[in-house]
Amino acid sequence: MITIHSIEEIRLYVEQAKQRGETIGFVPTMGFLHEGHGSLIDHARGDHQQVIVSIFVNPLQFGPNEDFDRYPRDLPKDQAFCEARGVDVIFAPSAKVMYGEEGALTRIHVDALGDHLCGASRPGHFDGVATVVAKLFNIVQPHRAYFGKKDFQQLSIVKRLVKDLSIPVEIIGVDIVREADGLAKSSRNAYLTPEDRTVAPELQQTLKRIQAKVAEGASDLDQLMEAERSRLASFERIRIDYLTCVDLLQLQPIHKLDVGEEGVCAIAAFVGNTRLIDNILLTR
Ligand code: AMP
Repeated sequence: MITIHSIEEIRLYVEQAKQRGETIGFVPTMGFLHEGHGSLIDHARGDHQQVIVSIFVNPLQFGPNEDFDRYPRDLPKDQAFCEARGVDVIFAPSAKVMYGEEGALTRIHVDALGDHLCGASRPGHFDGVATVVAKLFNIVQPHRAYFGKKDFQQLSIVKRLVKDLSIPVEIIGVDIVREADGLAKSSRNAYLTPEDRTVAPELQQTLKRIQAKVAEGASDLDQLMEAERSRLASFERIRIDYLTCVDLLQLQPIHKLDVGEEGVCAIAAFVGNTRLIDNILLTR
């Protein structure tokens, strides 16, 4: 496994691999890798001769008061993780390599899909994501790219970006990987205090209760969510940002689910000072 830091070098590597007739699977990440990333890598490894993982904490997708500076970083550990997982190349550019001294003036905005849910409390976040993902696709030019369903709004936005701009890459969504107690794995779980960690599984518990009631026949989603909001209010360490049910295509809020319909129930909440997200598929 090699680590490449420059755009020229990764382009040359990919060009040579493609000349040999090899296909490229790409896993974009911000590093501090865990089993969630590992699952994306495994999927890519199963499908392609070449697996490229990018590690880049993208300043464009962090707000001024967010955790860009303290976001956890550990390249040597990530290199060992990728090596053990059979990754061929880590692409780890600096912000200067990606955006130059003067920064990028261009932003990609995917209308409608990115303005609510996480977009409402993180203005500009998804423009930063769409911009860096488009740029990484231009640099790496993979056949397929793998994204986690944990960030389901991001996954929808990336799929739409690729469709609208005719970027020749297939987007694969991969299931959420969880801790034994159900907490979705996340690099940000490293911020949780022991007390935070004890209550953090409540996020998935909330979603699972709503999912179970819908599966049993409940159709009034607002009522189900209201009961869960009241329940979560009893946890001193948990502060809900949103708990919303949306449709799978446009991610617009839905209030009822008829038999045979599907939706997603999504939550974002601060556990202590750490903002965590999770979601679950609803089927009636
Ligand atoms: P990040 O490094 O947090 O930007 O995540 C990089 C990719 O890994 C994104 O596509 C995430 O959706 C995915 N990912 C992060 N956590 C998980 C998880 N617990 N299960 C599956 N995919 C994940």
